[in-house]
Formats: sequence, structure tokens, C-alpha cells
Amino acid sequence: MLGSMMMRPLKIADILTFAAEVHPTAEIVSVRTEGDVHRTTYAETAKRVAQLAHGLEKQGAKMGDRIATLAWNGYRHFELYYAISGIGAVCHTINPRLSAEQMTYIVTHANDTMLFVDTTFVPIVDGLRSQWPEGLKVVVMTDRAHMPEGDYLCYEELLEGQPETHDWPDFPEETAAGLCYTSGTTGNPKGTLYTHRSTVLHAMMVGLSLPAALQPGKRILPVVPLFHVNAWGLPYSAPLTGASLIFPGAALDGPSLFKLMEQERVFSAWGVPTVWLGLQGEIEAQGRVPEGFGDVVIGGSAAPASMITYFESHGVNVCHAWGMTEMSPVGTQGNLPDHLDDLPVDERVAIKSKQGRRVFGVELKIVDEDGNRLPHDGVAAGELYVRGNTITSGYFQNDDANAEAFDNEGWFGTGDVATIDRHGYLNITDRAKDLIKSGGEWISSLDLENTVMAHPKVANCAVIAVPHEKWDERPLLVVVPSPEGRPEVAELMALLEEHFAKWQLPDDVVFADALPLTATGKVSKLTLRKTYADHRLPD
Ligand code: AMP
Repeated sequence: MLGSMMMRPLKIADILTFAAEVHPTAEIVSVRTEGDVHRTTYAETAKRVAQLAHGLEKQGAKMGDRIATLAWNGYRHFELYYAISGIGAVCHTINPRLSAEQMTYIVTHANDTMLFVDTTFVPIVDGLRSQWPEGLKVVVMTDRAHMPEGDYLCYEELLEGQPETHDWPDFPEETAAGLCYTSGTTGNPKGTLYTHRSTVLHAMMVGLSLPAALQPGKRILPVVPLFHVNAWGLPYSAPLTGASLIFPGAALDGPSLFKLMEQERVFSAWGVPTVWLGLQGEIEAQGRVPEGFGDVVIGGSAAPASMITYFESHGVNVCHAWGMTEMSPVGTQGNLPDHLDDLPVDERVAIKSKQGRRVFGVELKIVDEDGNRLPHDGVAAGELYVRGNTITSGYFQNDDANAEAFDNEGWFGTGDVATIDRHGYLNITDRAKDLIKSGGEWISSLDLENTVMAHPKVANCAVIAVPHEKWDERPLLVVVPSPEGRPEVAELMALLEEHFAKWQLPDDVVFADALPLTATGKVSKLTLRKTYADHRLPD
């Protein structure tokens, strides 16, 4: 027997409508590309979002259109999240750190109709526009006074004179709302297409799981970008819970973050370990933590124990979280239950070095090579699979990738290798996917290897991750020369530079007589990683 309760579609627009009514004075503060600090509230933002939605419709935007953004964390980017999804179109965030080839692939694959761009990224657009879909309208996210020369629309002019309310349409909650490509798998980037339902559920799940930061009066700094992984859902969970958002714009170095955090009394800051290393340096220089700073959420890569110890011993609670683009993205979080609050720092750190426990709505399982479930005993390590309402059911228009992404029970394979202990703590121990994560961004070892193999003097090669203090991991290229002799390092780098962004290039090249193989005859990256674990990369 079915129940008899109302069935209203979950809709993203309702989050901001709610925030404008219930948390009207909670703030959005943004360091702008124009050079100043901008302040607004959820109530004011709701009006501008309505204006922007009307502006989009005037430009011909309609349900299902993919509308892209190439922008820093700021209020205009936030407005786009709501206006685009509010009219039933799809907010496609693009990561400006991708190589030109990857970006062109993404814009073409998504078939974007409009692109909103921060002034900083106009040169990228200038360089690539001729290769992008014809008729793509480009809007620069600034006012008339700061507009660049060229065939661009002006963001503020789109809003001008438009009504400050919008009758948000109803549509099924499975309607697509957001699109984010990940390069965290092999091959071309793959799109995760979020729905209104998954986004609203994720906002509630994260709000429930991190109540210390997500509550009225608390001020949160998302360093994690709006251009990737939805800034871990903060643009949705903050307004839902009444927390204020402090957007840092382009300046993400330690001194800039310290200053902003102190000026804005940030309580909780969210981002990848590399960013916090910069902040740690500034805390050392100043001899104190920013006033009011009490909580840091670290994810995207493993938080080193030394970093957790540092913050915890400076009175800042560390929440070590894990997730993926394909999971909206949060899967686990590592805040300790109250009864463990009084543990000595080293014991707290030992627990917090693990990736925490699942949030409600995300199920985890680890399996062996044959897909058999492994026990949650903290010892057995296997590939991690996930299931839930906020997890992708298939990459956007990519049947080939989808054939491999799920197991026969329909669970999604994360490509991470993990243990889970009897209390439910997840510990990521390795990575099955052949990728390197540097400063929170992916580098495909396979793509680098394929390019290097084209050199006539390369018989075989492998690219592996080497631990790096600042960037977590950096790529090292191991080359087996062909009988014709050793290739010049400069030639190999020149070959790679044609296809990859500068930060994706290997930091060093070493030569070897042969590559170690696994029992099945594949190159054993595990052995190579062990061999070169202490390899000193040049500065
Ligand atoms: P992305 O989709 O770019 O967010 O990357 C997701 C991947 O980043 C995961 O599958 C992991 O490989 C890695 N990752 C994210 N958070 C953590 C963490 N806390 N510890 C270790 N690896 C992580």
C-alpha cells in the first residue's frame, strides 16, 4: 500500500527562496576580480538571481540547455548556480586549470550554448573560441566599466531592469541541474550530470553531517572551487542552514587567505591539503591562527597526519572528508563523536588520518578482485564501491565509460582502494585508477605515457606519483630507452608540452633498463612507486 502524502519535486530554487525568507541577513562576501570586496545577503541575492534568470531567458536560454561557467568563487558564480538551474537549464562548471585540449573537448561534448567567464579567464576564451561550438554566447562576469574589447556580453547588463522576482517553474525532480566533468578517470574527461533531487538531498545530507559549521551565524570559507565538485555542495548547504559564505576569489595563497579569514571572522574553512599548507606557513609567520578560526574541512586528497596534528594542536578542529565528483561529492566525514572529544591529540590524529565515516544516504562496500565483499575489519583492503541517491547512475553521454563504471549489483566503482573498520571508518590505502593528484587536480599518467611512447627512442615508459610536500603528489616519468639510444629529456618534455598544461608535466625523468611487471604482465606501478618513493624531485 502506498502512503498518501504530498509529492512535491525537490527543486534547487527552493533552497534560495527558503534562505531569503528564513536567513535573509546571512551574508555572501566576495573578493572580486575588480579588486574590491563585495557584500550581499541571501535576500538580496534572491532578487538578483531572479533578474539573472530573466536575463538568461531573454538571451533564449531554455530547459535542458547547457550553460557553462569559467569563474572563481564569488557571488556572481553563486547567482549562476541558482538562475541557470532555476529555469531548468544545466549549470556546467568548467575547471580553468584543464589543458586547452581537455577544455575544448568538454565544451564541445557538453554542447554549451552560453559561457559565463570571469575577466581573468577571458584570454583562455580568446585563444580557444574558434574551436568551440559556433554560436556560443560569451558573457563576461563584470560591469560595463570593466568589460574587455571583443564579442562579449556584459553580465551586469543582462540583469539591468529585469524583475526582482521569478515564478520558478515546476519540473520533475530528476531534471538535470548541474554538469561537472572529471578528469579523475582514464581517457577523456567524463561528465557527472546532477539532478535537482540529488543536489537538494546532498545539501541536506551535508548539513546534517557537519552541524558545527553549517548553522546560522557561522561563517564558512569555501576555498574548494565552485568550478569543480560544486565546492563540495556549500553553495547549497550553506543557504539551507543559514551559514554565511565568504568567497575568496582568485587569491588563494596563505597570506591572502589569513587576512580574509581574520577580516571576515571565518569559523570554518574548506579545501584541499595544498591550500592549508600555505595557510599553515602564514600562521607560523604571524605566530597565531586567524581570530575566530575553529574548524577546517580537508578533502580532495589525503590529509597528512602532520597537518591534522598542526591544526588540532592550534585549537582548530579537523574534519577529514572523502568524496568524488561522481558523488556530488561528499561520501564520508571525519568529525569525531562527542565521547571521543577528550582523547589526547595523538589518538585523535590517528583516527582523523582515516577518511571518516559515511554520511547518511551513502553506502560503502569493499570488494576483492572477483567482486566478493570483504569484511569491515580495518585490515582487509579492496576496491571501494558506493551506492546512493547522490551518486551518478552513468556519465553524461558516454556509453563506453558507463559499461565499466558499475558492478553487476549496480554499485559505482570509485577506483580507490580502502579498508573499513568495525566502527565504519574508511581508510583510503591506495588508488586503483592510474592517476596522479597534484594540488587537488588530476594528472593522467596514461595520457602522459601514450604521448611519450610516440618518441622513437622510447621502448617503454611509466608515469608514477611521487609524494610531494606541497602538492601531495607530482608525476615522475620512468623511461626505458630503445636500443637506438637514450632520448634527450628536453625532447620528451617538448613532446609533452604540445598536449598538456604546464602543471601536468612530469617534474623529473629517470631512465631504467626495464619496468617491473605484475603477475598478469602489466607494469607494476605499485613496485615503481615503492622504488621511487624517496626520489628527490628537482625544486
Ligand atoms: P574528484 O572527483 O576530483 O574530487 O576526486 C575524487 C578522488 O579524490 C577520490 O576518488 C580519491 O581518489 C581522491 N580523494 C578525495 N578525498 C580524499 C581523501 N580525503 N583522502 C584520499 N583521497 C581522496
